[in-house]
Amino acid sequence: MSNFIPKAWAHLQDDILPRDAVIAIDGPAGSGKSTTAKALAKRFDLLYIDTGAMYRALTLAALQASVDCTNEEVLVGLASKAHLELKTGRGEIAVFWDGKDVSAAIRAPEVDAMVSLVASHPEVRTIMVRHQQILGRRGGVVMEGRDIGSVVFPLATSKVFLHASLEARVDRRFKQNQQRGHEISRDDLTEDLAIRDKKDSERATSPLAISPDAHVIDSSHMSLEQQNDACALACLVNPALDLELDTDYAKSRPTIPFKYRLPFTFFHAVSRFFGMKEYNSAGKAVPSGCIVACNHVSLWDPPLVGSTFRRYKINTLAKESLFKIPVLGSFLFYIDGIPIKRKSFDKDAFAEASKSLLEGNNLLIFPEGTRRAIGHPGPVRNGLGILVQATRAPMVPIFLRGTHGRKPLGSDLSPLESNYGPVIRWHGLEALLEEFDRKVVSRRIADLCLAVFEEMQDRSYQRTPQTDFEKDLGARQLKKVAAREKIVFGR
Ligand code: C5P
Repeated sequence: MSNFIPKAWAHLQDDILPRDAVIAIDGPAGSGKSTTAKALAKRFDLLYIDTGAMYRALTLAALQASVDCTNEEVLVGLASKAHLELKTGRGEIAVFWDGKDVSAAIRAPEVDAMVSLVASHPEVRTIMVRHQQILGRRGGVVMEGRDIGSVVFPLATSKVFLHASLEARVDRRFKQNQQRGHEISRDDLTEDLAIRDKKDSERATSPLAISPDAHVIDSSHMSLEQQNDACALACLVNPALDLELDTDYAKSRPTIPFKYRLPFTFFHAVSRFFGMKEYNSAGKAVPSGCIVACNHVSLWDPPLVGSTFRRYKINTLAKESLFKIPVLGSFLFYIDGIPIKRKSFDKDAFAEASKSLLEGNNLLIFPEGTRRAIGHPGPVRNGLGILVQATRAPMVPIFLRGTHGRKPLGSDLSPLESNYGPVIRWHGLEALLEEFDRKVVSRRIADLCLAVFEEMQDRSYQRTPQTDFEKDLGARQLKKVAAREKIVFGR
């Protein structure tokens, strides 16, 4: 496991972390997440949220009610009826189950033994993840768990995956248990942690996993102070890069070549005509050589997303058949579009796109590969991961809503919007490549991109709830999309 944090960042000041930051700390049992998460909460004056405590509280309740922990339905019943409260602060956390303080009881070895089983049920996770998102959405939190960076907050400001060897973790847990007065031998602890690691990493729903954009820190040979400092520094890297980006952008005031300005201005006029609302894009700086990844629901998407590119030049990957359509084909060649065949892996198109990114050009892609049902983004295909691995290009996600239909546009039936997400940088890529083959890594990147689209969609629904029209249309489109997928990708 790598400990990649550039020395150049050592001078960073704590106050560059935004007040509403969400810091995600993930890692296996005993890796020191809690201790470090609490230290970070104190240092940055944020709220500390321990998500493991939530799964533990449910496990304790199940054990006390003599419930079978393999029975998902009963556990879901327990979780939905009970009132689970986390009293969070800048240090210790208190956990209340139906008004009763269970903070100490949830740390018992009996709970340790059963908690991973309880946490493996998808429906249980849905309830807990919702709860965690509500707790953290306003920001200003350090949240620790297994799936915070990958599932709960895929758009977290900073993500750390804290790792340590099994030996080091057993050692730490042994000392912790002695202090708490729990009698458990080193051998039993080793077995417990190894079993939990396995269960947590292999479960189908939101397993313990390194998010490709997380800083991976191996603390096996670090003192507590070194571990806390390394994690704090990791939290400051993205805010520092964002600041640098904004400053560079303000200084250089990039001008778009006339060739591109012309179509982008036209697209902007179209989007204004239809009343598209833009969130987070005005004056938005994107790093040079980045992948701009947009969800895809309609043929209106390319011109409408194009209307947001007033401030930077961009090339695009587009399906080969479009280049053969009169006028449109010429236009795509005019804006240096790159044609791509979709039935098989188009090596030449990927090589050209990678070269363009490495030369510092931005590249628009629709990583889902074809149009998807509205309200149901994904799956994201492996092409994104292939490009990322070839170039390490950062990604800026864009989520479009309301672009579908004959009259797309900006009606009460579906609000017309474009939403820009933050820059996603692949800090965890090298660590992932040390452990997995390239295909698995591409899958991880695709999964993160999908989680990001879903999160952006959720935020849009929070602003303007999903309409009945959108729900119905999405449900009807699902079948069509499945049929189109077979035609487009040949399977
Ligand atoms: O962090 P802690 O060891 O207290 O977590 C207890 C258990 O809860 C983990 O072993 C894991 O099975 C589950 N958990 C989870 N997802 C989280 C946090 C904890 O599945 N976000």
